[in-house]
Amino acid sequence: ETYSDKVKRDERYKKLDNADIEKFKAILQDENSLLQDAGDLEFFNEDWMRKYRGQSKLVLKPKTTEQVSEIIKYCNEQKLAVVPQGGNTGLVGGSIPVFDEIILSLASMNKIRSFDPVSGNLKCDAGVILENADNFLAEKGYIFPLDLGAKGSCHVGGVVATNAGGLRLLRYGSLHGSVLGLEAVLPDGTIYNSMHSLRKDNTGYDLKQLFIGSEGTIGIITGVSILCPARPQVFNVAFLAVNSFEAVQKVFVGARKELSEILSAFEFMDGNSQALAERHLGTDHPIESGKYPFYILIETSGSSKEHDDEKLETFLGNAMEEGLVEDGIIAQDETQLKNLWAWREQVPEASTIGGGVYKYDVSLPLKDLYGLVEAVNEKLDAQGLRDPEDESKPVVDAIGYGHLGDGNLHLNVAVREYSKVVENALEPFVYEWISSKKGSISAEHGLGFQKKNYIGYSKNDTEVAMIKQIKQHYDPNGILNPYKYV
Ligand code: FAD
Repeated sequence: ETYSDKVKRDERYKKLDNADIEKFKAILQDENSLLQDAGDLEFFNEDWMRKYRGQSKLVLKPKTTEQVSEIIKYCNEQKLAVVPQGGNTGLVGGSIPVFDEIILSLASMNKIRSFDPVSGNLKCDAGVILENADNFLAEKGYIFPLDLGAKGSCHVGGVVATNAGGLRLLRYGSLHGSVLGLEAVLPDGTIYNSMHSLRKDNTGYDLKQLFIGSEGTIGIITGVSILCPARPQVFNVAFLAVNSFEAVQKVFVGARKELSEILSAFEFMDGNSQALAERHLGTDHPIESGKYPFYILIETSGSSKEHDDEKLETFLGNAMEEGLVEDGIIAQDETQLKNLWAWREQVPEASTIGGGVYKYDVSLPLKDLYGLVEAVNEKLDAQGLRDPEDESKPVVDAIGYGHLGDGNLHLNVAVREYSKVVENALEPFVYEWISSKKGSISAEHGLGFQKKNYIGYSKNDTEVAMIKQIKQHYDPNGILNPYKYV
C-alpha cells in the first residue's frame, strides 16, 4: 500500500531542484551527510511494517543543531516539505514521507552531552539510539526510564516525539514526567533551547510538553534532558498461565498490592499470540503455548535479592492457592530471564509471520480490554476471513497482548497480505468499538498517517481545533510532516 492511494500531493510545496541541493551541500559541508542514491534512500522511504512507502529523493543527516536550523529555515522560505526521522521504527506511518518530502534524519546527531551522577540527569542528542543511551547509563549505575522492543534502533528523540510508553511505564511513568528539558528547531529555524535539569519549574507554560508526542509536526527535537532512576540491582521474571481474562485482572490487583514497589512490569499475552511466537521463534514455549488462553509476564526489580525473591514467591504461592494461576515458572538466571522476555517482546515480529500486520495500539478500561480482540475475531469469522492454517484466507489471526498494567492493549491482525476487504472489516469497526467504551484509539504509538482520519474518536471538536491552532501558529506554511494527523 502506498500513502498516495489516499491523498494527493499538495502543490503548495516546491519540488526539489539543483539549487536546493547545492544549498544543503553548503550547509552540511560533508558529502556523506546527504543521500540521493535510490539504494541508499530505500530504508528511509519504507516503514518498519513495510506497509507504507514514500518517494523522497533526498535524505539529510545534519550533525549539529545549527545545521538543522539552517536547513529548516531554508525549507520554510522555499516551501520545501520535511519529514523528521529518528530510527524509523514508528508503527503508524508517521516517520516516512508520503510524496517527495525531504527526510531529515537525526541519525548523525548521536552524542551524549552530559550526565550528572548525583541527580541522574542525562543530556544527549536526539539521535542517540535508546539502547546506547541505556548502556551508557548502566555503566554509571542508572537506567533509562523507558524500555521497548525497538530499543536497538529507535532514537531518544524519536521516543520523545512519539511519547512512547513501553514496558516499564508502570514503574517509571510517562515521558511527560521524566523529560526535564528539550532542545528543538521550530519550522522557521528558531532554536528553542530549554535543556533544563530542574524537576520543579512553575514559571509559565511548560512548553516542552508540546513537543512530547507531537510526532514531528511542530518542531525537530535535537536534544533531550531526562531524569534517569538508579538501576535496580536485582531483576526477577515470572511467566504464568491463567484460564480467563478475569483471572489476569485479579493477578494484577494482587501483584500491585503484594509486590508493590518492586513491581516493574505486568504484561499479558493471549494464547494465540504465543502460538504465533512459537512458530516465529522455532523453540518450545516455556509453559505450553496452546494450552491456556492467557499468559502473564511479571517483572520485579529492586535492590535486595532475598527480599524480592521472598516477596515474589509468597505472592505466587498465594495466587496458586487461590486458584488464579494454573502454571508458572520463575527465571533462574539471566539467560532464562531474557528468554522469558522474548515470549513477550517477539510478539510484534511474530505477528508479521503471514506477510503483514494491521496494528491497533489502544487504551481501554481494564474490564473491557480483551473484549476488543474477541469482537474483532467474531467479525472476521462471520465474514469467513480468518484461518491460521488455511492459506487461502487473508487473515492468519487477530491476537491481543500488551501493557496490561497501563490499560494498554495491542491488537494485531496478522494477515497474509494487505487488502481492502480486511481493512474494511476492521475500520472503522475497531475505532467505533473503542470509542463506545470511552477508550483511546492510540495509547502510545501516536496517530501518524494510519490514524489521521480517526482523531475524532478520541478528541472532541474543541480539542482538534486547538491542536490545529497550535500547528498553524508554529508552522503556518505546513512544512513539517505534512499529510499526517494534523
Ligand atoms: P521514528 O519512527 O523515526 O519517528 C516516529 C515519529 O516521530 C515520526 O512522526 C517522526 O516524524 C517523529 N520524529 C522522530 N524523531 C524526531 C525528532 N528528533 N524530532 C521530531 N520528530 C521526530 N512504542 C511504544 O510506545 N511502546 C512500545 O512498547 C513499543 N514497542 C515497539 C516495538 C517494536 C518492535 C517496534 C518496531 C516499535 C515499537 N514501538 C513502541 C513504536 C514506537 O513508536 C517507536 O519504536 C519509537 O517511539 C519511535 O522512535 P524512532 O526513533 O524510531 O522514531
